[in-house]
Amino acid sequence: MENESSEFFARQVVLPGVGLEGLAKLRAATIAVAGVGGVGSSAAYYLARSGVGRIRLVDQDIVEPSNLPRVHGASQEDLFHSKAEVLSRRLSDFGNWLSVETVVETITDRNVDDLFRDVDLIFDGLDNFRTRYILNRFALQSHTPYLFASAVSDQAHLALLNPPQTPCLECVMPHVMDRFEDSCETLGVGPSITGLTGSIGAETILRSLLGRPTLLRDHLMTIDMGGPEFLFTKLSRRDDCAVCGKFPDENPEASPTVTLLCGEHTANVLPFDRLDLHLSQISAMIPTERILANTNSVLVYREGPYTISLFRNGRLLIGDIDEETEASKVANHVWRTVKNMKIADAEKTSTHI
Ligand SMILES: [Zn+2]
Repeated sequence: MENESSEFFARQVVLPGVGLEGLAKLRAATIAVAGVGGVGSSAAYYLARSGVGRIRLVDQDIVEPSNLPRVHGASQEDLFHSKAEVLSRRLSDFGNWLSVETVVETITDRNVDDLFRDVDLIFDGLDNFRTRYILNRFALQSHTPYLFASAVSDQAHLALLNPPQTPCLECVMPHVMDRFEDSCETLGVGPSITGLTGSIGAETILRSLLGRPTLLRDHLMTIDMGGPEFLFTKLSRRDDCAVCGKFPDENPEASPTVTLLCGEHTANVLPFDRLDLHLSQISAMIPTERILANTNSVLVYREGPYTISLFRNGRLLIGDIDEETEASKVANHVWRTVKNMKIADAEKTSTHI
């Protein structure tokens, strides 16, 4: 088998910065790929072909007909099978020097530690920010490097994050809400961009494992297939980041009390603790064109697709919403923003004194 694998990797070991020593490092590495749709399956494919020794595929979904163009190695007979298991069967054909593990599970804050504690790096091929934020917090707590990758429509984004040495995902993309109108179902996505994103992501992971430089360590890369253009934005940490900032949220997973008001597309959300807000101060921070009403008892304004009514005691009515989890997320975002305003205000006051 050693001879067989030497032949297999013959072209790679002559690459500068790889060599037999580098190949040995890759073969000793364990990479988890969270989400093995178009982007994740592509990354896993190139990681496996490049000699990574152990790959863990974590995905809760099955292969549906609309996934077939993008999921690497999936064909008609794989329809409605687990994506992770389908991909595992294809990768295992490469050679028995590769160990592939499959986990058909939803990633939650309760199992994230068990799923990822023994890996060298996590590749994020997920399709939602709710789970990405769970991975991001885990990456910070466990000091596990985390490659963020997403592709939708003609655009993709990638960054290699390793908080606390680098900014975290919520510094770069805070409060992103998973909305149907922003999803691949609505905006579309093609196999070439998911393949390209997975390929660049895999190469970045290989370079990280080999200790080679990569711009993605402190930049967000944006790919626009329209040019094509490849843009780099320098990453910086935000002091008010809810995860790695000065005042992180201590209990991010706790859910507030949400009641959907029947037939009105509106949610009533109660705060954990009764607040006493100065609504006029808060309204001064919101662009006037977004404010619909501003009284002593309630401030009503537009926030993305929602109409927010913020009451003095912190209670919220969120209009144009149909989901409790989404309402919790919007509420946490509003309360966090208000809390940060108060902290900033207190700091300003103390500086003046
Ligand atoms: Zn952060």
